[in-house]
Amino acid sequence: MVKKPVISMKMSPKAVSPGAASPKAVSPKAVSPKAANARLRKTLEVSGHRFTEQRAAVYRFVCDATTHPNADEVFQQVRGEVPGISLATVYKSLETLVNCGLASKLTYSDGSARYDGRTDPHHHVHCVSCGRVRDIPGHLSPDSLEILGKGLDGFRVSGYRLELTGFCSECSLETDTKGSMDPPN
Ligand code: ZN
Ligand code: MN
Repeated sequence: MVKKPVISMKMSPKAVSPGAASPKAVSPKAVSPKAANARLRKTLEVSGHRFTEQRAAVYRFVCDATTHPNADEVFQQVRGEVPGISLATVYKSLETLVNCGLASKLTYSDGSARYDGRTDPHHHVHCVSCGRVRDIPGHLSPDSLEILGKGLDGFRVSGYRLELTGFCSECSLETDTKGSMDPPN
C-alpha cells in the first residue's frame, strides 16, 4: 500500500471546469439568502432540474456550513427544517447541486465524501483523526505550480487538488491530554 503523502495532488476536473450551466465561481457566503435562492432556482432550471424546498434547504446548509459536512450531517441538520425529508433525498439533492456546479464534492480514499458550498478555487486541511475538513485561507503561488508541472512528459495538466493532512487543534489536544493521563507504568 502506498503511504499517503502529506500533500496529495489529485486531479479534480469537476472542481476546475464545471459544466456549461454552472454559475460564476463565487463564495455563496457573500450573497444574501434571497439572492442565493434566486441563483439556485435559475441554475437548477438551466440544468433541467426543478427548484424544490428540499434542495433549497440542503443548498442553504451546505453554503452556510464551514465544516464541509457529509450527507448524514446535512440530513441531521436539514430534517429539522424540512420534516419528512429522507437521507436518500438529501443525498440526491447534494449530487444535483454538485452536477450543477453549485457545490463541490470532496472524496476520500476510504470512500467517504464531504460537500462544500464554496466553488471558487481553494484548498483544505483534513484531520485524519476526526475527519473534519476546513478551508485554507492561503494560496500557492502560480510559480510553484509551474515548477511541479515541469518535466511531465506529454501530460496536460487541467487542474489540481491540494489537501494538507494532519491533526486539528481539538484532536491534537486530545492526544496530548490522553498522553498525560496515561503515564507509563
Ligand atoms: Zn480532528
Ligand atoms: Mn472548502
